[in-house]
Amino acid sequence: MALPYPLRGRDAKERFCREYTIRCIRHGVLLPGDSARCCCGNPIQQEFFQFAYAPSKTFLAGANCGRELIEIAKLATPTLVDPFGLLPQAAKKTTTGAGASGTGESRIPQINVEMAYALDMLLEIWDNKDGYLKSMSEKLNHYPQITIYDNFILSLNKGVRSTIERRKNLSNLRQIYASLPRFKKKGLSMRNIHFPNLEKRLSALGEVSLL
Ligand SMILES: [Zn+2]
Repeated sequence: MALPYPLRGRDAKERFCREYTIRCIRHGVLLPGDSARCCCGNPIQQEFFQFAYAPSKTFLAGANCGRELIEIAKLATPTLVDPFGLLPQAAKKTTTGAGASGTGESRIPQINVEMAYALDMLLEIWDNKDGYLKSMSEKLNHYPQITIYDNFILSLNKGVRSTIERRKNLSNLRQIYASLPRFKKKGLSMRNIHFPNLEKRLSALGEVSLL
């Protein structure tokens, strides 16, 4: 955990939010084979939030601690990304509309959320290989609201294309990702993840989306 002290209890969280400017950059679900600790030190069960704080550090929080931090710092809740549909419906209900507070400025554009997630998927397929896309992924974690330029989207699509060429029977990023051993053996499919904003931009650029 990349934190100067554990955020156990409300007091510690309030103190941390006074000392640092935090941003909530990701709202997701631990995938099969993933494990992570909450900012309070407990293991995260399933749903998580990722926060960034100055200058370029991030940490994770589980459902309860995450919502508490969002409330204390008055942040907007990023859209939940649950690619395999693992989160029970009941939990999702409480999530819907949770982002009502927070200022418009702190809201992360949907295309940035899509980009961050697509990069995570591709980088995992690549075993976190260093390069342009990895450095862009890190940049996006630290500055989640940066403008997503056309070149960046084209590089992502090109990266997927080079991967597809080596796996002839798979035709897009979602299929390749779902074929990773930890998902394949559970028979999970990625029906819950879509990249509509990225696809729209690719199509406007005359590119066939491979996402
Ligand atoms: Zn916690």
